[in-house]
Amino acid sequence: MDKYEKVIALARRRGFIWPAFELYGGAAGFYDYGPLGAPLKRKIEDLWREFFVIKEGFCEIECPTIGVEDIYVASGHLSGFSDPLTECKECGEIYRADHLIKHIIEVPDALSGEEIYTVIQENDIFCPECSGDLSQIYEFNLMFKTAIGPGSRQAGYLRPETAQGMFINFPRLLRYYRDRLPFGAVQIGKSYRNEISPRQGVIRLREFSQAEAEIFINPRDKSHPRFDEVEDLKLILYSEEDQEREGGQPREMTIKEAVDKRIIAHQTLAYYVARTYQFLMEAGLSRDRLRFRQHKKDEMAHYAADCWDAEASLERFGWIELVGVADRTDYDLRSHMAQSQTNLSVFVPFDKPRRQEKLVVKPDMKKLGPIFRNKAKAVAEALKSLDIEELEKETISVVVDGETVEIGSDLVSFEMVEETIRGEEIVPHVIEPSFGIDRILYTVLEHSCYEEMVDEETRTVLKLRPKVVPIQVAVLPLMDRDELMAPAEEITDVLKARGIYVEYDSSGSIGRRYRRNDEVGTPYSITVDYKTLEDKTVTIRDRDTMAQVRAGVDELPDTILALLREELEFGEAGVPLRS
Ligand code: AMP
Repeated sequence: MDKYEKVIALARRRGFIWPAFELYGGAAGFYDYGPLGAPLKRKIEDLWREFFVIKEGFCEIECPTIGVEDIYVASGHLSGFSDPLTECKECGEIYRADHLIKHIIEVPDALSGEEIYTVIQENDIFCPECSGDLSQIYEFNLMFKTAIGPGSRQAGYLRPETAQGMFINFPRLLRYYRDRLPFGAVQIGKSYRNEISPRQGVIRLREFSQAEAEIFINPRDKSHPRFDEVEDLKLILYSEEDQEREGGQPREMTIKEAVDKRIIAHQTLAYYVARTYQFLMEAGLSRDRLRFRQHKKDEMAHYAADCWDAEASLERFGWIELVGVADRTDYDLRSHMAQSQTNLSVFVPFDKPRRQEKLVVKPDMKKLGPIFRNKAKAVAEALKSLDIEELEKETISVVVDGETVEIGSDLVSFEMVEETIRGEEIVPHVIEPSFGIDRILYTVLEHSCYEEMVDEETRTVLKLRPKVVPIQVAVLPLMDRDELMAPAEEITDVLKARGIYVEYDSSGSIGRRYRRNDEVGTPYSITVDYKTLEDKTVTIRDRDTMAQVRAGVDELPDTILALLREELEFGEAGVPLRS
Protein backbone atom coordinates (compact mmCIF):
# COMPACT_ATOMS: atom_id res chain seq x y z
CA MET A 1 0.00 0.00 0.00
CA ASP A 2 1.48 3.35 -0.94
CA LYS A 3 0.83 6.50 1.03
CA TYR A 4 -2.06 7.60 -1.21
CA GLU A 5 -3.85 4.29 -0.67
CA LYS A 6 -3.26 4.50 3.08
CA VAL A 7 -4.58 8.04 3.34
CA ILE A 8 -7.59 7.31 1.14
CA ALA A 9 -8.35 4.13 3.10
CA LEU A 10 -8.26 6.13 6.34
CA ALA A 11 -10.33 8.91 4.78
CA ARG A 12 -13.03 6.44 3.74
CA ARG A 13 -13.01 4.43 6.96
CA ARG A 14 -13.21 7.47 9.22
CA GLY A 15 -15.66 9.52 7.16
CA PHE A 16 -13.51 12.23 5.55
CA ILE A 17 -13.93 11.53 1.83
CA TRP A 18 -15.26 8.74 -0.33
CA PRO A 19 -16.22 8.26 -3.97
CA ALA A 20 -19.68 9.70 -4.74
CA PHE A 21 -22.70 7.67 -5.90
CA GLU A 22 -21.21 4.41 -4.56
CA LEU A 23 -24.70 2.92 -4.28
CA TYR A 24 -25.01 3.14 -8.07
CA GLY A 25 -21.48 2.18 -9.01
CA GLY A 26 -19.88 5.64 -8.79
CA ALA A 27 -18.53 7.99 -11.48
CA ALA A 28 -14.88 9.02 -11.82
CA GLY A 29 -14.05 12.53 -10.72
CA PHE A 30 -16.77 12.96 -8.08
CA TYR A 31 -16.24 12.61 -4.32
CA ASP A 32 -18.36 13.13 -1.21
CA TYR A 33 -17.13 14.84 1.93
CA GLY A 34 -18.34 12.85 4.92
CA PRO A 35 -19.03 13.79 8.57
CA LEU A 36 -15.36 14.69 9.22
CA GLY A 37 -14.42 15.77 5.69
CA ALA A 38 -17.13 18.43 5.39
CA PRO A 39 -16.07 20.26 8.59
CA LEU A 40 -12.38 19.92 7.67
CA LYS A 41 -13.11 21.50 4.28
CA ARG A 42 -15.18 24.27 5.83
CA LYS A 43 -12.42 25.06 8.31
CA ILE A 44 -9.82 25.25 5.54
CA GLU A 45 -12.15 27.65 3.73
CA ASP A 46 -12.64 29.68 6.92
CA LEU A 47 -8.89 29.89 7.38
CA TRP A 48 -8.68 31.15 3.80
CA ARG A 49 -11.36 33.75 4.64
CA GLU A 50 -9.32 34.81 7.65
CA PHE A 51 -6.40 35.55 5.31
CA PHE A 52 -8.12 37.07 2.30
CA VAL A 53 -11.40 38.49 3.57
CA ILE A 54 -10.57 39.60 7.11
CA LYS A 55 -6.87 40.46 6.90
CA GLU A 56 -6.74 41.72 3.30
CA GLY A 57 -10.16 43.35 3.53
CA PHE A 58 -11.47 41.89 0.27
CA CYS A 59 -15.23 41.48 -0.07
CA GLU A 60 -16.72 38.03 -0.59
CA ILE A 61 -19.37 37.55 -3.23
CA GLU A 62 -21.40 34.57 -4.44
CA CYS A 63 -22.45 34.18 -8.07
CA PRO A 64 -24.45 31.52 -9.94
CA THR A 65 -22.55 28.37 -10.88
CA ILE A 66 -24.30 28.38 -14.27
CA GLY A 67 -23.24 31.14 -16.62
CA VAL A 68 -24.55 32.50 -19.93
CA GLU A 69 -22.57 31.97 -23.12
CA ASP A 70 -21.28 35.54 -23.53
CA ILE A 71 -19.15 35.19 -20.40
CA TYR A 72 -17.25 32.26 -21.84
CA VAL A 73 -16.95 33.79 -25.29
CA ALA A 74 -15.21 36.73 -23.62
CA SER A 75 -13.07 34.64 -21.29
CA GLY A 76 -11.91 32.40 -24.12
CA HIS A 77 -13.22 29.22 -22.48
CA LEU A 78 -15.65 28.52 -25.31
CA SER A 79 -12.98 28.54 -27.99
CA GLY A 80 -9.88 27.57 -26.06
CA PHE A 81 -10.69 25.55 -22.93
CA SER A 82 -10.26 22.17 -24.51
CA ASP A 83 -7.93 19.18 -24.50
CA PRO A 84 -6.61 17.33 -27.55
CA LEU A 85 -8.00 13.80 -27.74
CA THR A 86 -7.22 10.71 -29.74
CA GLU A 87 -9.27 7.55 -29.99
CA CYS A 88 -8.10 3.98 -30.46
CA LYS A 89 -9.40 2.72 -33.80
CA GLU A 90 -9.56 -0.83 -32.43
CA CYS A 91 -10.97 -0.72 -28.90
CA GLY A 92 -12.45 2.79 -28.90
CA GLU A 93 -10.59 3.94 -25.73
CA ILE A 94 -10.09 7.72 -25.61
CA TYR A 95 -6.85 9.39 -24.47
CA ARG A 96 -5.44 12.83 -23.82
CA ALA A 97 -3.17 12.95 -26.85
CA ASP A 98 -0.69 15.33 -25.20
CA HIS A 99 -0.29 12.91 -22.29
CA LEU A 100 0.74 10.10 -24.63
CA ILE A 101 3.77 12.08 -25.82
CA LYS A 102 4.81 13.59 -22.49
CA HIS A 103 7.92 11.41 -22.37
CA ILE A 104 9.02 12.72 -25.77
CA ILE A 105 7.97 16.39 -25.74
CA GLU A 106 8.55 18.30 -22.52
CA VAL A 107 5.70 20.81 -22.95
CA PRO A 108 3.18 19.18 -25.32
CA ASP A 109 0.59 21.93 -24.59
CA ALA A 110 2.47 24.16 -27.00
CA LEU A 111 1.86 21.83 -29.99
CA SER A 112 -1.08 21.90 -32.39
CA GLY A 113 -3.26 18.82 -32.92
CA GLU A 114 -1.52 18.06 -36.19
CA GLU A 115 1.92 18.35 -34.60
CA ILE A 116 0.90 15.98 -31.79
CA TYR A 117 -0.38 13.49 -34.36
CA THR A 118 2.94 13.67 -36.23
CA VAL A 119 4.85 12.95 -32.99
CA ILE A 120 2.55 9.97 -32.34
CA GLN A 121 3.15 8.55 -35.81
CA GLU A 122 6.89 9.20 -35.92
CA ASN A 123 7.44 7.58 -32.54
CA ASP A 124 5.27 4.51 -33.13
CA ILE A 125 2.85 5.29 -30.32
CA PHE A 126 -0.17 2.99 -30.19
CA CYS A 127 -3.12 2.43 -27.86
CA PRO A 128 -1.72 1.72 -24.36
CA GLU A 129 -4.56 -0.77 -23.80
CA CYS A 130 -4.63 -2.88 -26.98
CA SER A 131 -1.80 -1.54 -29.20
CA GLY A 132 -4.32 -0.46 -31.85
CA ASP A 133 -3.82 2.53 -34.17
CA LEU A 134 -4.76 5.96 -32.84
CA SER A 135 -7.03 8.42 -34.62
CA GLN A 136 -6.33 12.00 -35.73
CA ILE A 137 -6.46 14.52 -32.90
CA TYR A 138 -9.69 16.39 -32.10
CA GLU A 139 -10.44 19.02 -29.45
CA PHE A 140 -12.84 18.36 -26.56
CA ASN A 141 -14.22 21.36 -24.64
CA LEU A 142 -14.04 20.79 -20.88
CA MET A 143 -17.10 22.85 -19.98
CA PHE A 144 -20.35 21.10 -19.04
CA LYS A 145 -23.03 22.55 -21.28
CA THR A 146 -26.71 22.78 -20.40
CA ALA A 147 -29.81 24.61 -21.59
CA ILE A 148 -31.39 27.46 -19.64
CA GLY A 149 -35.15 26.93 -19.66
CA PRO A 150 -37.04 24.51 -21.92
CA GLY A 151 -35.89 23.98 -25.47
CA SER A 152 -32.40 24.96 -26.45
CA ARG A 153 -32.82 28.67 -27.04
CA GLN A 154 -30.34 29.78 -24.40
CA ALA A 155 -27.17 27.85 -23.71
CA GLY A 156 -25.78 27.72 -20.17
CA TYR A 157 -22.43 26.47 -18.94
CA LEU A 158 -21.41 25.21 -15.53
CA ARG A 159 -18.64 27.60 -14.57
CA PRO A 160 -15.11 26.22 -15.06
CA GLU A 161 -13.72 28.77 -12.56
CA THR A 162 -15.17 31.21 -10.04
CA ALA A 163 -13.08 34.13 -11.31
CA GLN A 164 -15.46 35.29 -14.04
CA GLY A 165 -18.02 36.26 -11.37
CA MET A 166 -15.66 38.95 -10.11
CA PHE A 167 -14.82 40.22 -13.59
CA ILE A 168 -18.38 40.60 -14.83
CA ASN A 169 -19.38 42.34 -11.60
CA PHE A 170 -16.49 44.78 -11.88
CA PRO A 171 -18.63 47.95 -12.32
CA ARG A 172 -20.72 47.16 -9.21
CA LEU A 173 -17.68 46.20 -7.16
CA LEU A 174 -15.89 49.39 -8.20
CA ARG A 175 -18.85 51.44 -7.01
CA TYR A 176 -18.95 49.45 -3.75
CA TYR A 177 -15.30 50.44 -3.21
CA ARG A 178 -16.20 54.09 -3.97
CA ASP A 179 -14.48 54.12 -7.34
CA ARG A 180 -11.01 53.65 -5.92
CA LEU A 181 -8.20 51.24 -6.75
CA PRO A 182 -6.80 48.94 -5.54
CA PHE A 183 -9.53 46.61 -4.30
CA GLY A 184 -10.18 42.90 -4.23
CA ALA A 185 -13.15 40.56 -4.38
CA VAL A 186 -13.19 36.86 -3.63
CA GLN A 187 -15.42 33.88 -4.14
CA ILE A 188 -15.35 30.38 -2.68
CA GLY A 189 -17.43 27.82 -4.50
CA LYS A 190 -17.83 24.95 -6.87
CA SER A 191 -16.33 24.82 -10.34
CA TYR A 192 -16.88 22.15 -12.98
CA ARG A 193 -14.60 20.71 -15.61
CA ASN A 194 -15.45 17.66 -17.65
CA GLU A 195 -11.93 16.22 -17.26
CA ILE A 196 -11.16 13.52 -19.84
CA SER A 197 -10.00 10.65 -17.68
CA PRO A 198 -9.70 11.62 -14.04
CA ARG A 199 -7.46 8.79 -12.92
CA GLN A 200 -5.73 10.74 -10.16
CA GLY A 201 -8.45 10.17 -7.56
CA VAL A 202 -9.13 13.26 -5.49
CA ILE A 203 -6.47 15.30 -7.32
CA ARG A 204 -8.37 15.69 -10.59
CA LEU A 205 -12.10 16.12 -10.04
CA ARG A 206 -14.97 16.99 -12.34
CA GLU A 207 -16.65 19.05 -9.62
CA PHE A 208 -14.33 20.82 -7.22
CA SER A 209 -14.09 23.84 -4.95
CA GLN A 210 -12.05 26.91 -5.69
CA ALA A 211 -11.21 29.92 -3.60
CA GLU A 212 -10.19 32.77 -5.84
CA ALA A 213 -9.28 36.38 -5.21
CA GLU A 214 -9.22 38.96 -7.98
CA ILE A 215 -7.27 42.02 -6.96
CA PHE A 216 -7.71 45.04 -9.22
CA ILE A 217 -4.70 47.33 -9.23
CA ASN A 218 -3.39 50.38 -11.01
CA PRO A 219 -0.91 49.07 -13.62
CA ARG A 220 1.30 52.10 -13.07
CA ASP A 221 2.00 51.07 -9.48
CA LYS A 222 2.63 47.42 -8.68
CA SER A 223 4.29 48.07 -5.33
CA HIS A 224 2.49 46.84 -2.20
CA PRO A 225 2.01 49.02 0.90
CA ARG A 226 2.43 46.06 3.28
CA PHE A 227 5.33 44.41 1.50
CA ASP A 228 7.57 44.94 4.55
CA GLU A 229 5.37 42.54 6.55
CA VAL A 230 6.41 39.62 4.35
CA GLU A 231 9.73 40.62 2.82
CA ASP A 232 11.87 38.54 5.21
CA LEU A 233 9.88 35.36 4.69
CA LYS A 234 12.02 32.57 3.27
CA LEU A 235 10.46 30.38 0.57
CA ILE A 236 11.60 27.65 -1.79
CA LEU A 237 11.39 29.17 -5.26
CA TYR A 238 11.90 27.34 -8.53
CA SER A 239 12.32 30.08 -11.08
CA GLU A 240 11.95 29.69 -14.81
CA GLU A 241 15.69 30.27 -15.18
CA ASP A 242 16.52 27.49 -12.70
CA GLN A 243 14.17 25.12 -14.52
CA GLU A 244 15.79 25.90 -17.88
CA ARG A 245 19.40 25.79 -16.63
CA GLU A 246 21.11 22.41 -16.74
CA GLY A 247 21.29 21.16 -13.14
CA GLY A 248 19.21 24.11 -11.91
CA GLN A 249 17.47 23.40 -8.59
CA PRO A 250 14.81 25.16 -6.50
CA ARG A 251 16.40 27.72 -4.19
CA GLU A 252 15.50 29.10 -0.80
CA MET A 253 15.41 32.87 -0.66
CA THR A 254 13.57 35.74 0.96
CA ILE A 255 10.66 37.40 -0.75
CA LYS A 256 12.65 40.65 -0.79
CA GLU A 257 15.58 39.01 -2.55
CA ALA A 258 13.22 37.50 -5.14
CA VAL A 259 11.79 40.93 -5.97
CA ASP A 260 15.15 42.75 -5.84
CA LYS A 261 16.64 40.25 -8.29
CA ARG A 262 13.50 40.45 -10.45
CA ILE A 263 12.85 36.73 -10.05
CA ILE A 264 9.26 37.55 -9.05
CA ALA A 265 7.99 40.31 -11.33
CA HIS A 266 6.88 42.84 -8.70
CA GLN A 267 5.99 43.47 -5.05
CA THR A 268 2.24 42.85 -5.32
CA LEU A 269 2.65 39.42 -6.92
CA ALA A 270 5.37 38.53 -4.41
CA TYR A 271 3.17 39.71 -1.53
CA TYR A 272 0.41 37.26 -2.49
CA VAL A 273 2.91 34.45 -3.05
CA ALA A 274 4.03 35.09 0.55
CA ARG A 275 0.46 35.15 1.92
CA THR A 276 -0.26 31.92 0.02
CA TYR A 277 2.74 30.33 1.70
CA GLN A 278 1.59 31.48 5.15
CA PHE A 279 -1.92 30.17 4.54
CA LEU A 280 -0.68 26.77 3.41
CA MET A 281 1.60 26.54 6.45
CA GLU A 282 -1.27 27.34 8.81
CA ALA A 283 -3.48 24.81 7.06
CA GLY A 284 -0.87 22.21 7.97
CA LEU A 285 1.30 21.53 4.93
CA SER A 286 4.81 20.41 5.56
CA ARG A 287 7.32 23.10 4.69
CA ASP A 288 9.86 20.81 3.04
CA ARG A 289 7.22 19.39 0.71
CA LEU A 290 6.12 22.77 -0.65
CA ARG A 291 7.68 24.94 -3.34
CA PHE A 292 6.73 27.80 -5.62
CA ARG A 293 7.38 27.15 -9.29
CA GLN A 294 7.34 29.87 -11.90
CA HIS A 295 5.48 29.15 -15.15
CA LYS A 296 7.78 28.82 -18.11
CA LYS A 297 7.14 31.10 -21.09
CA ASP A 298 5.51 28.32 -23.12
CA GLU A 299 3.08 27.24 -20.36
CA MET A 300 2.06 30.73 -19.29
CA ALA A 301 -1.11 32.23 -20.78
CA HIS A 302 -0.11 34.69 -23.53
CA TYR A 303 -1.56 37.65 -21.64
CA ALA A 304 -0.03 36.87 -18.22
CA ALA A 305 2.93 38.91 -17.05
CA ASP A 306 4.16 36.36 -14.47
CA CYS A 307 2.72 33.31 -12.73
CA TRP A 308 3.80 31.18 -9.77
CA ASP A 309 2.26 27.88 -8.70
CA ALA A 310 2.36 26.61 -5.14
CA GLU A 311 3.21 22.94 -5.61
CA ALA A 312 3.10 20.20 -3.00
CA SER A 313 5.05 16.99 -3.15
CA LEU A 314 2.75 13.96 -2.92
CA GLU A 315 4.18 10.47 -2.68
CA ARG A 316 2.26 8.96 -5.59
CA PHE A 317 1.79 11.96 -7.87
CA GLY A 318 5.00 13.96 -7.44
CA TRP A 319 4.75 17.77 -7.51
CA ILE A 320 1.12 18.85 -7.85
CA GLU A 321 -0.25 22.37 -8.37
CA LEU A 322 -2.42 23.53 -5.47
CA VAL A 323 -2.52 27.26 -6.08
CA GLY A 324 -1.75 29.56 -8.99
CA VAL A 325 -0.77 33.18 -8.32
CA ALA A 326 -0.79 35.19 -11.54
CA ASP A 327 -0.54 38.71 -12.87
CA ARG A 328 -3.25 38.51 -15.55
CA THR A 329 -2.71 42.12 -16.70
CA ASP A 330 -5.81 43.82 -18.16
CA TYR A 331 -6.77 40.80 -20.29
CA ASP A 332 -10.00 39.85 -18.49
CA LEU A 333 -11.46 43.33 -18.22
CA ARG A 334 -10.54 44.19 -21.81
CA SER A 335 -12.14 40.96 -23.07
CA HIS A 336 -15.37 41.72 -21.23
CA MET A 337 -15.21 45.34 -22.40
CA ALA A 338 -15.11 44.15 -26.00
CA GLN A 339 -17.79 41.47 -25.58
CA SER A 340 -20.25 43.58 -23.55
CA GLN A 341 -19.49 46.92 -25.26
CA THR A 342 -19.27 48.47 -21.79
CA ASN A 343 -16.52 50.74 -20.58
CA LEU A 344 -14.72 49.11 -17.66
CA SER A 345 -12.01 51.69 -17.21
CA VAL A 346 -11.46 53.62 -13.98
CA PHE A 347 -10.67 57.29 -13.55
CA VAL A 348 -7.51 57.46 -11.50
CA PRO A 349 -6.64 60.92 -10.18
CA PHE A 350 -3.01 62.04 -10.24
CA ASP A 351 -1.36 62.83 -6.90
CA LYS A 352 -1.18 66.45 -8.05
CA PRO A 353 -3.18 67.92 -10.95
CA ARG A 354 -0.94 68.43 -13.97
CA ARG A 355 -0.80 71.55 -16.13
CA GLN A 356 -0.58 70.82 -19.83
CA GLU A 357 -0.47 72.89 -23.00
CA LYS A 358 -3.18 72.12 -25.48
CA LEU A 359 -3.68 73.21 -29.07
CA VAL A 360 -7.14 74.65 -29.73
CA VAL A 361 -8.12 74.93 -33.42
CA LYS A 362 -11.01 77.19 -34.39
CA PRO A 363 -12.13 76.84 -38.03
CA ASP A 364 -14.06 79.92 -39.16
CA MET A 365 -17.39 78.35 -40.08
CA LYS A 366 -18.83 81.59 -41.41
CA LYS A 367 -16.20 81.59 -44.12
CA LEU A 368 -15.90 77.82 -44.61
CA GLY A 369 -19.66 77.33 -45.05
CA PRO A 370 -20.18 79.26 -48.28
CA ILE A 371 -16.98 77.85 -49.78
CA PHE A 372 -17.35 74.17 -48.97
CA ARG A 373 -21.14 73.90 -48.41
CA ASN A 374 -22.09 70.40 -47.32
CA LYS A 375 -18.42 69.46 -46.89
CA ALA A 376 -17.72 72.35 -44.53
CA LYS A 377 -18.20 70.31 -41.37
CA ALA A 378 -15.85 67.57 -42.56
CA VAL A 379 -13.24 70.16 -43.51
CA ALA A 380 -13.51 71.72 -40.04
CA GLU A 381 -13.05 68.33 -38.40
CA ALA A 382 -10.03 67.61 -40.58
CA LEU A 383 -8.50 70.94 -39.58
CA LYS A 384 -8.95 70.16 -35.89
CA SER A 385 -6.83 67.05 -36.22
CA LEU A 386 -3.81 68.86 -37.67
CA ASP A 387 -0.72 69.64 -35.64
CA ILE A 388 0.74 73.08 -35.18
CA GLU A 389 3.34 72.81 -37.98
CA GLU A 390 0.64 72.12 -40.54
CA LEU A 391 -1.53 74.95 -39.28
CA GLU A 392 1.33 77.46 -39.48
CA LYS A 393 1.68 77.00 -43.25
CA GLU A 394 0.33 79.70 -45.62
CA THR A 395 -1.85 77.21 -47.46
CA ILE A 396 -3.14 74.34 -45.42
CA SER A 397 -3.91 70.97 -47.00
CA VAL A 398 -6.44 68.50 -45.61
CA VAL A 399 -7.84 65.31 -47.06
CA VAL A 400 -11.64 65.05 -47.06
CA ASP A 401 -13.36 62.00 -48.53
CA GLY A 402 -10.12 61.02 -50.26
CA GLU A 403 -9.79 64.46 -51.89
CA THR A 404 -7.08 66.96 -51.03
CA VAL A 405 -8.50 70.37 -50.21
CA GLU A 406 -6.44 73.56 -49.93
CA ILE A 407 -7.43 76.16 -47.37
CA GLY A 408 -6.11 79.65 -46.85
CA SER A 409 -4.71 80.40 -43.43
CA ASP A 410 -7.32 83.15 -42.91
CA LEU A 411 -10.06 80.50 -42.67
CA VAL A 412 -8.78 79.05 -39.43
CA SER A 413 -7.26 80.37 -36.21
CA PHE A 414 -5.53 78.47 -33.41
CA GLU A 415 -3.91 79.04 -30.04
CA MET A 416 -2.05 77.15 -27.32
CA VAL A 417 -3.95 77.13 -24.02
CA GLU A 418 -2.95 75.72 -20.62
CA GLU A 419 -5.30 73.21 -19.10
CA THR A 420 -5.41 71.26 -15.84
CA ILE A 421 -5.52 67.47 -15.99
CA ARG A 422 -6.66 65.79 -12.80
CA GLY A 423 -6.17 62.14 -13.72
CA GLU A 424 -6.50 59.49 -16.38
CA GLU A 425 -8.75 56.63 -17.46
CA ILE A 426 -7.08 53.26 -17.00
CA VAL A 427 -8.09 49.61 -17.29
CA PRO A 428 -6.93 47.90 -14.07
CA HIS A 429 -4.59 44.95 -14.00
CA VAL A 430 -5.64 41.84 -12.10
CA ILE A 431 -3.57 39.84 -9.65
CA GLU A 432 -5.19 36.47 -9.06
CA PRO A 433 -4.40 33.94 -6.35
CA SER A 434 -6.46 30.85 -7.28
CA PHE A 435 -6.68 28.01 -4.75
CA GLY A 436 -7.90 24.44 -5.32
CA ILE A 437 -9.50 23.59 -1.97
CA ASP A 438 -9.89 19.82 -2.58
CA ARG A 439 -6.24 19.37 -3.47
CA ILE A 440 -5.22 21.39 -0.44
CA LEU A 441 -7.44 19.24 1.77
CA TYR A 442 -5.97 16.01 0.42
CA THR A 443 -2.44 17.39 0.84
CA VAL A 444 -3.21 18.40 4.42
CA LEU A 445 -4.26 14.79 5.08
CA GLU A 446 -1.22 13.27 3.39
CA HIS A 447 1.32 15.66 4.91
CA SER A 448 -0.10 15.29 8.40
CA CYS A 449 -0.53 11.52 8.39
CA TYR A 450 2.20 9.41 9.99
CA GLU A 451 2.59 6.00 11.60
CA GLU A 452 4.70 4.90 14.55
CA MET A 453 5.12 1.72 16.55
CA VAL A 454 3.76 1.87 20.10
CA ASP A 455 3.77 -1.27 22.26
CA GLU A 456 4.23 -3.40 19.14
CA GLU A 457 1.17 -1.86 17.56
CA THR A 458 1.02 0.66 14.72
CA ARG A 459 -0.31 4.00 15.84
CA THR A 460 -1.65 6.12 12.96
CA VAL A 461 -1.86 9.84 13.63
CA LEU A 462 -3.30 12.74 11.68
CA LYS A 463 -1.29 15.65 13.00
CA LEU A 464 -3.86 18.25 11.96
CA ARG A 465 -3.39 21.87 13.01
CA PRO A 466 -5.87 22.96 15.75
CA LYS A 467 -7.33 25.60 13.37
CA VAL A 468 -8.63 23.04 10.87
CA VAL A 469 -9.25 19.96 12.98
CA PRO A 470 -12.86 18.67 12.72
CA ILE A 471 -13.12 17.29 16.26
CA GLN A 472 -11.39 19.54 18.78
CA VAL A 473 -11.86 17.42 21.89
CA ALA A 474 -13.00 13.90 22.68
CA VAL A 475 -14.67 13.28 26.02
CA LEU A 476 -14.21 9.70 27.13
CA PRO A 477 -15.61 8.09 30.28
CA LEU A 478 -13.00 5.51 31.35
CA MET A 479 -15.67 2.79 31.27
CA ASP A 480 -19.30 2.74 30.17
CA ARG A 481 -20.67 2.91 33.72
CA ASP A 482 -23.40 5.34 34.70
CA GLU A 483 -21.38 6.99 37.48
CA LEU A 484 -18.66 7.93 34.93
CA MET A 485 -20.92 8.56 31.95
CA ALA A 486 -23.11 11.13 33.72
CA PRO A 487 -20.25 13.55 34.60
CA ALA A 488 -18.64 12.94 31.17
CA GLU A 489 -21.89 13.94 29.44
CA GLU A 490 -22.11 17.02 31.66
CA ILE A 491 -18.55 18.05 30.67
CA THR A 492 -19.47 17.49 27.00
CA ASP A 493 -22.43 19.88 27.33
CA VAL A 494 -20.36 22.54 29.06
CA LEU A 495 -17.68 22.39 26.33
CA LYS A 496 -20.30 22.48 23.56
CA ALA A 497 -21.88 25.53 25.14
CA ARG A 498 -18.51 27.29 24.75
CA GLY A 499 -18.50 26.59 21.00
CA ILE A 500 -16.05 23.70 21.10
CA TYR A 501 -16.48 20.76 18.69
CA VAL A 502 -16.73 17.80 21.06
CA GLU A 503 -17.16 14.12 20.42
CA TYR A 504 -18.46 12.02 23.28
CA ASP A 505 -17.44 8.39 23.00
CA SER A 506 -18.01 5.60 25.51
CA SER A 507 -17.69 2.54 23.28
CA GLY A 508 -14.76 0.12 23.45
CA SER A 509 -11.58 0.08 25.50
CA ILE A 510 -9.97 3.41 26.35
CA GLY A 511 -6.86 2.43 24.33
CA ARG A 512 -8.97 1.81 21.24
CA ARG A 513 -10.77 5.13 21.68
CA TYR A 514 -7.44 7.00 21.98
CA ARG A 515 -6.24 5.33 18.75
CA ARG A 516 -9.45 6.23 16.93
CA ASN A 517 -9.09 9.85 17.93
CA ASP A 518 -5.41 9.90 16.94
CA GLU A 519 -6.46 8.67 13.52
CA VAL A 520 -8.97 11.46 12.96
CA GLY A 521 -6.63 14.11 14.34
CA THR A 522 -8.44 15.01 17.60
CA PRO A 523 -5.74 17.00 19.39
CA TYR A 524 -6.98 16.43 22.97
CA SER A 525 -8.85 13.62 24.70
CA ILE A 526 -10.41 14.16 28.10
CA THR A 527 -10.85 11.09 30.26
CA VAL A 528 -13.32 10.98 33.14
CA ASP A 529 -12.36 8.38 35.79
CA TYR A 530 -13.07 7.59 39.45
CA LYS A 531 -10.67 10.28 40.62
CA THR A 532 -12.92 12.79 38.81
CA LEU A 533 -15.70 11.91 41.23
CA GLU A 534 -13.40 12.54 44.23
CA ASP A 535 -11.58 15.76 43.28
CA LYS A 536 -13.24 17.19 40.14
CA THR A 537 -10.19 16.68 37.92
CA VAL A 538 -9.84 14.89 34.58
CA THR A 539 -6.95 13.70 32.44
CA ILE A 540 -6.18 15.54 29.24
CA ARG A 541 -4.16 13.54 26.74
CA ASP A 542 -2.10 15.15 23.99
CA ARG A 543 -2.45 13.46 20.58
CA ASP A 544 1.12 14.08 19.40
CA THR A 545 3.14 13.13 22.47
CA MET A 546 0.53 10.91 24.17
CA ALA A 547 1.53 12.74 27.37
CA GLN A 548 -1.18 13.27 29.98
CA VAL A 549 -1.91 15.99 32.52
CA ARG A 550 -4.44 16.20 35.29
CA ALA A 551 -6.58 19.35 35.11
CA GLY A 552 -9.53 20.84 36.99
CA VAL A 553 -13.05 20.36 35.59
CA ASP A 554 -14.10 23.93 36.44
CA GLU A 555 -11.34 25.51 34.34
CA LEU A 556 -11.61 22.89 31.58
CA PRO A 557 -13.30 24.98 28.84
CA ASP A 558 -10.78 27.82 29.28
CA THR A 559 -7.87 25.39 29.37
CA ILE A 560 -9.01 23.64 26.18
CA LEU A 561 -9.69 26.91 24.35
CA ALA A 562 -6.25 28.23 25.31
CA LEU A 563 -4.64 25.01 24.08
CA LEU A 564 -6.55 25.17 20.78
CA ARG A 565 -5.54 28.77 20.26
CA GLU A 566 -1.97 27.72 21.03
CA GLU A 567 -1.88 30.28 23.85
CA LEU A 568 -1.00 27.51 26.27
CA GLU A 569 1.60 24.76 25.90
CA PHE A 570 0.31 21.32 26.71
CA GLY A 571 2.69 20.97 29.68
CA GLU A 572 1.18 24.09 31.27
CA ALA A 573 -2.38 22.79 31.05
CA GLY A 574 -2.30 20.86 34.32
CA VAL A 575 -0.22 18.56 36.51
CA PRO A 576 1.87 16.16 34.36
CA LEU A 577 1.13 12.47 34.73
CA ARG A 578 3.25 9.55 33.75
CA SER A 579 1.50 7.76 30.93
P1 AMP B 1 -6.50 26.65 -12.89
O1 AMP B 1 -7.61 27.60 -13.18
O2 AMP B 1 -6.45 25.48 -13.85
O3 AMP B 1 -5.17 27.30 -12.69
O4 AMP B 1 -6.89 25.97 -11.49
C1 AMP B 1 -6.80 26.66 -10.28
C2 AMP B 1 -6.65 25.67 -9.15
O5 AMP B 1 -7.80 24.81 -9.10
C3 AMP B 1 -5.48 24.72 -9.35
O6 AMP B 1 -4.34 25.24 -8.73
C4 AMP B 1 -5.94 23.45 -8.69
O7 AMP B 1 -5.58 23.43 -7.33
C5 AMP B 1 -7.43 23.48 -8.81
N1 AMP B 1 -7.92 22.57 -9.87
C6 AMP B 1 -7.88 22.76 -11.20
N2 AMP B 1 -8.44 21.72 -11.84
C7 AMP B 1 -8.83 20.84 -10.90
C8 AMP B 1 -9.48 19.57 -10.92
N3 AMP B 1 -9.85 19.00 -12.06
N4 AMP B 1 -9.73 18.95 -9.74
C9 AMP B 1 -9.39 19.52 -8.58
N5 AMP B 1 -8.78 20.71 -8.50
C10 AMP B 1 -8.50 21.38 -9.64
